[in-house]
Amino acid sequence: MLVQVALPVPLYRVFDYSLPAETSVSPHVLIPQIGSRVEVSFGRQTLIGIVIAHISEADSSVPLNKLKPINQCLDAEPILEGSMLKLALWLARYYHYPLGDVLAVILPSLVRQGKPLDLLITHWRILPHVTDDDFHANAKKQKQQFDMLKLHGEHGASEDVLLLEGMERNFLKTLEDKGLIERYIQPKQASSPVTLAKMPLDLNDEQQLAVNAIVAAHDATRYTGFLLNGITGSGKTEVYLQAMQAVLEAGKQVLILVPEIGLTPQTRARFASRFAAHIVLLHSGMNNTHRLQGWQDCRTGHAQIIIGTRSAVLYPFADLGLIIVDEAHDGSYKQQDTLRYHAADVALYRGSQYRIPVVLGTATPSLEHLKLVDDGKLVEYQLLTRPGNAKPASMQLIDARLQSTHQQTTNDGTRYDTGLTDALIGAIRQTLEAGDQVLIFLNRRGYAPVLLCEACGWQADCPRCDAHLTVHYNSQTQRRHYANNAYLKCHHCDWQAYIPTVCPDCGSQNLDAKGMGTTRLSENLHAIFANPQTSKVLYPIIQIDRDTTRRKDSWENIYQRINEGKPAILVGTQMVAKGHHFPNVTLVCLPNADRGFLSADFRSPEHTAQLMIQVAGRAGRGDKAGRVLIQTLQPDNELLLKLVKDGYLSFARELLQERKMMGLPPHSHAALIRCEGKTLAATTQALKDAIAILPNAHKLAVLGPIDAPMSKKNSRYHVQLLLLGKDRRHLHHVLSQWWQPVLALPSAKYLKLTLDIDPVGW
Ligand code: ADP
Ligand code: ZN
Ligand code: ZN
Repeated sequence: MLVQVALPVPLYRVFDYSLPAETSVSPHVLIPQIGSRVEVSFGRQTLIGIVIAHISEADSSVPLNKLKPINQCLDAEPILEGSMLKLALWLARYYHYPLGDVLAVILPSLVRQGKPLDLLITHWRILPHVTDDDFHANAKKQKQQFDMLKLHGEHGASEDVLLLEGMERNFLKTLEDKGLIERYIQPKQASSPVTLAKMPLDLNDEQQLAVNAIVAAHDATRYTGFLLNGITGSGKTEVYLQAMQAVLEAGKQVLILVPEIGLTPQTRARFASRFAAHIVLLHSGMNNTHRLQGWQDCRTGHAQIIIGTRSAVLYPFADLGLIIVDEAHDGSYKQQDTLRYHAADVALYRGSQYRIPVVLGTATPSLEHLKLVDDGKLVEYQLLTRPGNAKPASMQLIDARLQSTHQQTTNDGTRYDTGLTDALIGAIRQTLEAGDQVLIFLNRRGYAPVLLCEACGWQADCPRCDAHLTVHYNSQTQRRHYANNAYLKCHHCDWQAYIPTVCPDCGSQNLDAKGMGTTRLSENLHAIFANPQTSKVLYPIIQIDRDTTRRKDSWENIYQRINEGKPAILVGTQMVAKGHHFPNVTLVCLPNADRGFLSADFRSPEHTAQLMIQVAGRAGRGDKAGRVLIQTLQPDNELLLKLVKDGYLSFARELLQERKMMGLPPHSHAALIRCEGKTLAATTQALKDAIAILPNAHKLAVLGPIDAPMSKKNSRYHVQLLLLGKDRRHLHHVLSQWWQPVLALPSAKYLKLTLDIDPVGW
């Protein structure tokens, strides 16, 4: 017998190995089971792979004397059971990605390294007889570390947790040597059945219908994809919770996918307050040990509720009963490198694999999901009202061409334009005076997006990218003197530079920061609403973007300040659009969110509208009514008017109709080939050569090669080629014949070529 092994190498094939001679002599030597790990020699390397089949010698294309035996089998039991191998094979086929590499994406790194799965997690506890008196007065640091452990009580805590809290490994050792603390291994106990920690709410009719349908699919062991299409604040979470209850009570696991990690602490709290259950969080910030621990908890069934970001959809589950994809339209569900999967699509596949319901919840369904509803592949449930008294926010346009913008004077007497219309400022003041909070959305961090020479028109550009450098500026007070504490930064490659004192082209000193980022907006608002010279009451301005939330606890701190509920102005990028609850925000302002309607990318209107509606949904979520003001320079833009007047759904339906007329996704199926290299000529040539070897009879539209939207990035050139097909199967058929020869093209040799199936942007 031979084993067929998938190895983590970028080759589209599996490898045959024989078994060591001992296996025929001694029955005690393991015969590697399908789905278990083996260590093998591969060229000069030693690799760990997964056995995916047992075959006979006759079935191998390798002559018997060329076959190498495996070095050793690492698992007595399969670590990937049948359905996980099937998933891996499906991913490899659908995304045209090598199976070994797919497995490398699926498996936690400790598993890939061949570590044993049964993690023995070290816990530390204080020995019973030890008291504070056992410490010398001058052993301050020891005592301080001891006190940290003491906070955890008699059972102590796991080493991970202690190290995370700031304990130092060598002190643990010292305290152990002194006979003050001991380590022990806590045996895993089976999870007890899930119970309700809090009573469910009474559902309204719309919610009840959705819950009934999901539970019915679960009870019938029937795969059904649901689109839970509910406006923000309509109580989608309550639908999730009550559907989950039935599934958890049946002893099954529930997987909940959320867009980003910033959301998980809150999300966890919402589920933990309803269910007494073993909840596991999975996200990219976990260290390797935590990841393996989470992986094992899911695989063994120890985890009952699993809340995770995108990659959680690739975990193994002992007994999954329901998958929920919250904010299913969110762009973060699409993986943008290596295996470019979409977590919502994988969730639907897994649902059909296990014959369980999958719920895609969102207030702004993607056109792809609406199309699946039209095709009868998703069952739609709508939630059109907010429970209780909460009213959906009203939307209103402010014509920035007709309104004067507010001027402000600095200490040295220069006047400058705040970019905010008087109408907007009036509404902000009114809201603050009523004791409420205001959220201003500006999807651009930094101080200003452009540094411009007023004399000759020179702009500061990134030497490595096709992009302007953003002016970053830290001080809240020294406007205009930004040269002192400002710098230029590229948001695409992180290149940084000092601000030049004179224009490098013409020598003029007249350099000016143009446009507005969150820092500048915050500063302008500060001058109006938090300056004792202009404002009787000083309102806090809270800036929320990648720059202000970089530190680990900063988001928590900001969140706490907001939740105190005092009047304040929040200035945020798209970070604030995702599912957060700001119950005291009653006014949301979008000073220039409509730019996206003019972009060249055909998906831009869809994504812009989703973002606008999501941000707008932050208004009036408590019992207070909300208002949304959109300040625009193009108030006649038809798309914008449609969105404001008729709402997202009818806007999206119109876009879908347009896509149909133009034969664009989701009314066709796309594959995007990206090519990256050191010169534009070589990258373009490789794609031309690729087109030349397309199978003759293909029925695809071939668009390109064309420069990528940002053709130069980090000193590398990007060119792309788009294939569009009416029929998905035909597209995949062509790709399966064509893609591997493309990778083998001589002109592709020193270039990076990638294939993106169902790309979300190009
Ligand atoms: P969504 O996720 O759709 O934006 P949420 O699930 O956050 O909305 O619900 C918004 C608010 O409505 C929450 O405070 C929630 O507790 C409340 N809510 C949801 N369903 C009900 C209900 N059936 N009765 C009363 N309040 C509800
Ligand atoms: Zn100049
Ligand atoms: Zn750059």
